[in-house]
Order: sequence, then structure tokens, then C-alpha cells
Amino acid sequence: MNTVTSMKCACESCLCVVNIGEAIAQNGKYYCSHNCADGHPKGESCGHDGCNCH
Ligand SMILES: [Zn+2]
Ligand SMILES: [Zn+2]
Repeated sequence: MNTVTSMKCACESCLCVVNIGEAIAQNGKYYCSHNCADGHPKGESCGHDGCNCH
């Protein structure tokens, strides 16, 4: 009974924690936003408060 339901966004510079049920899964990793999942093609952050990922 130790199911992980949330984890840090797989984006290196991202600080967000995502619920796996709500995360964007890509290549076996979980991301908080499409910007993160796509590798920030436009250099935009995920848009979450306090996060400056890129
Ligand atoms: Zn982020
Ligand atoms: Zn992220």
C-alpha cells in the first residue's frame, strides 16, 4: 500500500508536483504542462505560480 500518486514534473528546471492522474504522460515520464512535456520549445514556463521552468 504505497502507491505513488504524485511526483515532481519530469522537466529538470520545473518545481511543480503533479498528480499522475492529471499529469501529461510522455515517454514514460510525467509532466505538469504541455510546455514541459514538449521541452519548452518557445522558452515559456509551465505557467504555474512561482515556477520559472524553461
Ligand atoms: Zn514548471
Ligand atoms: Zn513542469
